[in-house]
Amino acid sequence: MAYFRTRIVSVLMLLPLAQCFSSINPRAAATSVGTKYSSTSQLHVIAQPSTEQLPSSKEHVKTDSLVVGAGPAGLLTAIMLAKKFPDQKVMVFDRLDPPPSPTDEDIWSDVARFYLIGLGSRGQNALRHFGVWDEVEAVATAVVGRKDWSPESGAEDGVERIFTDRPCMTQVLPRDKLVGVLHKHITDNYDDRIELNYGYEIEPEDFEAEDNSAVRLSVSRCDVKVRKNPAEEGNAGDKESGICDVEDAYSVTANLVIAADGTSRTIANEMEKNDQLAWEALNTIQRLFAEKPFKVRRYEDDNRRVYKTVPMKIPADWRPDLNFSARTKDGRINYDALPADREGNYCGVLLVKEGDEFAAADTDPIKFRALLDETLPQFSALLDDETVEGIAKKPVSYLPSFRYAGPRLNQGDRTLILGDSAHTVKPYFGLGANSALEDVKILEEAINETGSIPEAVHLFSKKRAKESESLVKISRELDRPGKLGFLTFILPLIMDSIFHGMLPKLFAPNTISMLQKEGISFTGVRRRKRFDRLGQVALIGTGVAVATTAVKALVKVVARVSGKNSGTIVAGMSSFLAIAFLFKKMAFFFKGNISPADVLTRTNDKEDMK
Ligand SMILES: Cc1cc2nc3c(=O)[nH]c(=O)nc-3n(C[C@H](O)[C@H](O)[C@H](O)COP(=O)(O)OP(=O)(O)OC[C@H]3O[C@@H](n4cnc5c(N)ncnc54)[C@H](O)[C@@H]3O)c2cc1C
Repeated sequence: MAYFRTRIVSVLMLLPLAQCFSSINPRAAATSVGTKYSSTSQLHVIAQPSTEQLPSSKEHVKTDSLVVGAGPAGLLTAIMLAKKFPDQKVMVFDRLDPPPSPTDEDIWSDVARFYLIGLGSRGQNALRHFGVWDEVEAVATAVVGRKDWSPESGAEDGVERIFTDRPCMTQVLPRDKLVGVLHKHITDNYDDRIELNYGYEIEPEDFEAEDNSAVRLSVSRCDVKVRKNPAEEGNAGDKESGICDVEDAYSVTANLVIAADGTSRTIANEMEKNDQLAWEALNTIQRLFAEKPFKVRRYEDDNRRVYKTVPMKIPADWRPDLNFSARTKDGRINYDALPADREGNYCGVLLVKEGDEFAAADTDPIKFRALLDETLPQFSALLDDETVEGIAKKPVSYLPSFRYAGPRLNQGDRTLILGDSAHTVKPYFGLGANSALEDVKILEEAINETGSIPEAVHLFSKKRAKESESLVKISRELDRPGKLGFLTFILPLIMDSIFHGMLPKLFAPNTISMLQKEGISFTGVRRRKRFDRLGQVALIGTGVAVATTAVKALVKVVARVSGKNSGTIVAGMSSFLAIAFLFKKMAFFFKGNISPADVLTRTNDKEDMK
């Protein structure tokens, strides 16, 4: 059915306005120990410690806390720790170069160079809580609504919707700019407490070093010199290791290690390996009583898309604060553009199926222009030939695959994982960075609620492991291909729109809307939606049963031409009418070529689509 082919790509239109055993790493142990500040080092230190702190060759460095990864989650974690423990030292390591300055217009004017992320209430609350929100907001762009072209509509027929009922407007900025703001906030405010080290890769050596009073890690100089768009590293995720030079390593011991190393999961992978070895060493009886081993659940991506970013300047008479979106009827192309600044410069994401003629580098610009003219005429008209050629020629970027770690997010008493490392979702529903930032707030709560690092580590894991799983499972259900996608996404959307519309006090809004709400956990959303589904099925079943019984009775009544039980007749007629009404309402959704976006637009649920 054409319908099933169509719905898959259309989900991007919903882009929100936009994860105890010891181990020694033999590779690291075998390496020589280098001096951190040698003249040939590629180390980039922003907040440089005084020279008294520098390690001499082969000397172990000690720190209170160590954060692996200087992405949004890692840097916010460092800020949280510096606030919480002002007398302690936090070391942050990232294998890439430092981020660009958030105000360097030479960098940011190249709008398609970095992908944009939308920060909703979860992310905004966390950043506000740690005193960084004002700086982020100053360089972000609010998105107040959406203009969407359904597959059937002409270039002139886009439907504009302004969101008037939101507690907070989604703020959009490049992921790397967010990192740049956090980086600047640290150098401005926590120079004495947070040591930022760029160009270094971390690998775990021993999660229970020094009688379980510390974690030992190896630090290697990294060969990566250019800061890449992480998405361009492909769907690599778990394949990203080995890009650093490990011939020159030294060891660091830390009382607390927080792995915010994104989809590369260096720490989580080692945790998994350790648990697997320990599990294999157990006999069957021991396994019955043992804690389940730590695992990263890696879903096969059965709905793979690739994308290219598109620099686009909108006309003066278009609102510069909207999310523009369109898609093709056959599901081949999906386009979604967010404002890169407040001047009408947009960064579009052109999503195509993997294997498509244009899902590659060096495609034919003339043919590509023809495709744009045919499928996205309203946007093609805004792109000059040079831009179109640039897009046709550039390589594709990949979306991350669904992953979650569990059943716990800690290893022993002193190591935990958070952010994308613990839970990776595709960006369609704007929950990656938002949930990563929220993790940091939950970690602070765990620290506040406990009296020691080990207690806080375990409490964080307890609070967040199930959440990570729920987030990934819910998000994946919204991204299944074909008929499965109809059952796990479209049909629930339809049911929610009808039942929430008719009985809003009884039935909650659809899942996408629920995921964006404050004060409800991802596990809570799952539970609530299961409850709703049961209620919906029960109501429909009861209605059908009553209608059937009553219609039978009515038939008998009519057959006997007698005035039998009038209540049955009334109930039967009412149920019959209710079922007929329900089917009438659903009829639109069962016509061909409808997408989730179309369902949401059609139902016009004011709480939908962030
Ligand atoms: C196209 C696209 C659009 C998106 N849109 C949105 C959106 O609208 N809303 C949203 O909330 N999210 C969005 N996301 C997701 C968001 O970007 C991620 O969820 C977020 O960046 C995760 O942050 P993090 O700090 O956990 O990990 P990352 O940002 O991946 O940072 C991890 C860091 O760790 C470093 N690192 C990794 N391994 C090591 C190691 N062994 N040693 C040292 N350093 C290491 C890496 O270099 C990296 O800098 C989008 C993602 C993509 C690809």
